[in-house]
Amino acid sequence: MSKTPHIIVIGAGVGGLTTAGLLAKEGYQVTVIEANTYPGGSAGTFFHKGYQFDAGATVAGGFQPNGPHALSGELLGIDWKVHQHDPAWVVHLPDRTIKLCMDNQDVEKNFPGTSEFWKEQHNIAELAWKMSAQGLPFPPTDIRELLQLAKVGLMNFPRDLQMIPFALSSVYQWISRKGLGDNKAFVRFLDGQLLISAQTTTPHVNALYGATALDLSRQGVFHVEGGIGGLSEQLADKLKEFGGEILYRHSVSRIAIDNGRATGVYITRGKRNPQERFIEADFVIANTTPWSLDDLLGDDSPQNLKRETKRRDLTQGAFVLHVGVKNDALAKDVDDHHQVIVDMDGSLGEGRSIFVSMSPEWDSSRAPEGYRAVTVSTHTQVQQWWDLLQSDTNAYAERKQAYAERMIDAIDTAVPGFKVGAEVILPGTPVTYQFYTQRHMGMVGGFPQTSLFKARGPKTGIPNVRLVGDSIFPGQSTAGVTLGAIRVANQVKRTLPASIPLQTYSYGKSHS
Ligand SMILES: Cc1cc2nc3c(=O)[nH]c(=O)nc-3n(C[C@H](O)[C@H](O)[C@H](O)COP(=O)(O)OP(=O)(O)OC[C@H]3O[C@@H](n4cnc5c(N)ncnc54)[C@H](O)[C@@H]3O)c2cc1C
Repeated sequence: MSKTPHIIVIGAGVGGLTTAGLLAKEGYQVTVIEANTYPGGSAGTFFHKGYQFDAGATVAGGFQPNGPHALSGELLGIDWKVHQHDPAWVVHLPDRTIKLCMDNQDVEKNFPGTSEFWKEQHNIAELAWKMSAQGLPFPPTDIRELLQLAKVGLMNFPRDLQMIPFALSSVYQWISRKGLGDNKAFVRFLDGQLLISAQTTTPHVNALYGATALDLSRQGVFHVEGGIGGLSEQLADKLKEFGGEILYRHSVSRIAIDNGRATGVYITRGKRNPQERFIEADFVIANTTPWSLDDLLGDDSPQNLKRETKRRDLTQGAFVLHVGVKNDALAKDVDDHHQVIVDMDGSLGEGRSIFVSMSPEWDSSRAPEGYRAVTVSTHTQVQQWWDLLQSDTNAYAERKQAYAERMIDAIDTAVPGFKVGAEVILPGTPVTYQFYTQRHMGMVGGFPQTSLFKARGPKTGIPNVRLVGDSIFPGQSTAGVTLGAIRVANQVKRTLPASIPLQTYSYGKSHS
């Protein structure tokens, strides 16, 4: 007699669903608990007044050979419903407009003297993509992962030695070595790209990570049919096909711990219903931030996790606008994605770098006829919104309105007609994000990628609980969390046999 182990995944974000699918395919019994009525979290798509708005993420990369979504598609048997677009997006600096295309020509034309830099960047990125496809469990958390890293290192020896100086410097040090550190417009341009792909700017981003992050537009980016949430819908369908289940509109309220191991989770139906039900589990995977995991573990949270959540600085949040725009108001050949950088100095957050994504004209499912569903976002500090909400709700509402107006004005200078064509406008702050994604204080995008030595792995201090999602290396983006998910699934497969003889079965205790 034997038992199939039960794995609970908290959250149906791309990270949670990818792990869940891979484990269900291996024969584990997998249940995903998702607070919302739809999957995807920050990369979900929601319905409002005839529109299908992307909640956060809009640009999907990683479908190229060796790319994370190509890998997960192959492992799970998914034929992704995506359509490539080139340019990836258009960057509007105050003094120039740059199209980010796969051939990188317009970038190099706008920044003469940078070709050598871009050649080196692409070379390093290609190697990094190749090595990550071979399996790069970083930072290694056990001897198996260390051996795997060494194996990938040997497979790419000696070409990988050229990565060492990049692993040890920042992007700014790298461009300074190339004599480009004083090129103000170029640095501003790179800062803008890195803020959206690595959560911080050239002086802080690790150069190896930066080289890969800057490669996104060169590898090709894609629209997902029906919105970015289509990725998670395909993952959810696959999970069900493999025998897994998803409980939507259910929240995990706490993780039960006995003798230092998770024995299951308590769930509630709906986000605000206090009535709890226990579900037993042999393994728990949290598609959450470390702060949210700490909350779910309460007094049983391991000391290291408690310390981590106290020690870490709060990370970035997003201020978003979901806008219905009349197509006629826009130029006929307007590109779908834009980044508007409003000035050349100072921080890029709080509306000074704005990302605008319009649903493609060919995807009639996304908006009423003649309209486009648009997602607009800018980085914002989370604490200010919570402080304001607590101290003065009117001031909170006013700031929200002021951000929305300022951003729409800035977009209108880069995308003429946007303001007059905007009809439905839904603003959202980190408070909104926390409500819809359960992310602690509405922090999004994971940790800034400053040093490979500070990278966070999936371990939590509890042997049968793992983190997955953009808080673990390599961090943010649907592609990044997919790599993390493949790694976590491999860890679980190594730790937990797909079938446990009942006489040795030790976790499954019922709680009341
Ligand atoms: C504004 C914005 C723009 C972005 N743009 C891009 C982009 O263009 N391209 C790109 O690739 N990436 C982009 N990203 C980043 C990308 O969206 C994220 O890195 C990625 O989607 C995170 O996935 P995740 O697996 O960490 O899960 P999350 O997206 O965090 O989802 C977690 C899920 O778990 C659920 N959950 C959490 N706790 C519980 C609980 N206790 N009970 C039940 N359910 C729970 C939540 O409801 C949620 O559905 C953007 C992010 C934002 C916010």
